Amino acid sequence: MSRTELKSVLGADELPRDYYNILHDLPAQLPPPLDPKTLQPVSPEALLRLFAKECLRQEVSTQEHIPIPEEVREAYVRLGRPTPLQRAKRLEQRLGTPAKIFFKREDLNPAGSHKPNTALAQAYYHREEGTERLTTETGAGQWGSALSLAAALFDIDLTVYMTRSSYDQKPYRRVLMEVYGAEVHASPSPRTNVGRKFLQEDESHPGSLGIAISEAVEDCVTHEGTKYSLGSVLNHVLTHQSVIGQEAKLQMEEFDEQPDYLVGCIGGGSNFAGLAYPFMRDKLRGKSRAQFVAAEPKAVPSTTKGEYRYDYADTGETAPLIKMYSVGHGYQCPPIHAGGLRYHGKAPSMSMLIDRGFMRSVAYSQNEVMEAGILFAQTEGIVAAPESNHAIKAAIELALECKRNNEAKTILFNLSGHGLLDLKAYQDKLARTLVDYEPDPAKIIAALGPSPVPN
Ligand SMILES: *Cc1c(COP(=O)(O)O)cnc(C)c1O
Repeated sequence: MSRTELKSVLGADELPRDYYNILHDLPAQLPPPLDPKTLQPVSPEALLRLFAKECLRQEVSTQEHIPIPEEVREAYVRLGRPTPLQRAKRLEQRLGTPAKIFFKREDLNPAGSHKPNTALAQAYYHREEGTERLTTETGAGQWGSALSLAAALFDIDLTVYMTRSSYDQKPYRRVLMEVYGAEVHASPSPRTNVGRKFLQEDESHPGSLGIAISEAVEDCVTHEGTKYSLGSVLNHVLTHQSVIGQEAKLQMEEFDEQPDYLVGCIGGGSNFAGLAYPFMRDKLRGKSRAQFVAAEPKAVPSTTKGEYRYDYADTGETAPLIKMYSVGHGYQCPPIHAGGLRYHGKAPSMSMLIDRGFMRSVAYSQNEVMEAGILFAQTEGIVAAPESNHAIKAAIELALECKRNNEAKTILFNLSGHGLLDLKAYQDKLARTLVDYEPDPAKIIAALGPSPVPN
């Protein structure tokens, strides 16, 4: 095989000039976010207090192409875009599958995941709009480190609320954020009303992404010159991630291949949307028969066991309600290693696409997922993030199905990040101490609570 059959690398001048916005092509308008107090559609003014004006414009825009600011394109190039797309030839051989497996490399930038794609754009818009400080939350620390990096490059202050369990157990991500100049607090923290409330219940509360969101929002609205930034779920975030899929489309053309399956892991849905939506566009326009497979943890089965309905975006019930697949804003997420996949809900656009059958989802437990990651490391040489291992597992399952049916299909998955700061997950897997979790369905119903609005 020639070298060009193994890897496609684009030049800096082939970096996309626009973001692709799926709202232009969705089969229906998205139900609006609702105010948690009035249960009426959220007023734009209330959201302006939190988000950058340009991000809010993009949040509801149905404009297909949104120009990428030149300075953001420059930052992308500085941090390694366009990213390579590779063929997992040795993995295919090991599986003995006639399928071809390709993967897009979002693991190669200094933050180690796809998240800088939106962090850089958001930091840029905030700087342009005069924001002095940003607040945000982070679970395992990938979003926090991506935004810290972006805040450093665009000269904005940043305060990060990091779930206490990660803050204590994963010091390296915290150090990375601090190296980039961010201020990091364990959440729940004594700095906010929400944080103090949870600390009163339990002074060593492990925290959750939902609580950290409540704290970051409270810090934002109680301080002038401060805005808030979110790393997944929202439309503008998914739109920024579309650089992944646009590049991948060009690269698959270079390989002279059309993916039959697009695969990714879903926490809030942004990395998979980034890869998938530029291809989904063709499917929504009746020009493609590609299938879309989203992989989530069995421990947080939002789309496979949850419900598609309005639910609070945060645990403290201070953020808007969003119509989405959810296991419930009160869900106590088990301590799985894939920290980025522990959010209770999924992006509204992706939830709609799953609900309407344009995309399907699968769920795996962490032992089988880490086994897939180890096979990938031993065949392709890359130690992937525990989150990304869900995508690898799903791709392997599809490749094995092709083997049984003797079909030479083409599979493309998103390698959303590297696992070099998650070696504890691999250590536990190798030591056979990893625990698989599957919630009792009654817990999901309880965590959702009664629906505050008719759906
Ligand atoms: C955050 C994260 C995810 C999950 O978030 P999405 O918004 O669903 O993409 C997946 N993989 C990695 C490596 C992450 O850091």
